[in-house]
Amino acid sequence: MSDDILLVAGCPYCDIFRDSSKKMLTKLYYPVKSSINKNTEFVILDCQYCNKPIVIFRDHVSSISKEQWGRILYRCRYLFGNGMKLRLKRRVVTDHWYAHIDGINTTKLRSTRDLRRY
Ligand SMILES: [Zn+2]
Ligand SMILES: [Zn+2]
Repeated sequence: MSDDILLVAGCPYCDIFRDSSKKMLTKLYYPVKSSINKNTEFVILDCQYCNKPIVIFRDHVSSISKEQWGRILYRCRYLFGNGMKLRLKRRVVTDHWYAHIDGINTTKLRSTRDLRRY
């Protein structure tokens, strides 16, 4: 049972992991859409409110472990460079862990696929 992930009904970020085929409305950076499943620890996609990339953790929790933080940081630096910063202030959803990615040049970003047209 420890593999079960905690999803909360009505939470827009949980919805991404519940049904990734429908809810992905913005540009996705990590992972590729077809590989989002219950083993996906986090996704990185554009925030639908401000169009900056955000990292969204899989579980509906308000804090994450050092190890999880480390993996997220590693992936973000790999994608966006060492100059990027994670901004933890949560406005839209307050009890599901996510972070905005700041300090990057968004015009140069490569998406796994631009999903805005779908
Ligand atoms: Zn935002
Ligand atoms: Zn949630």
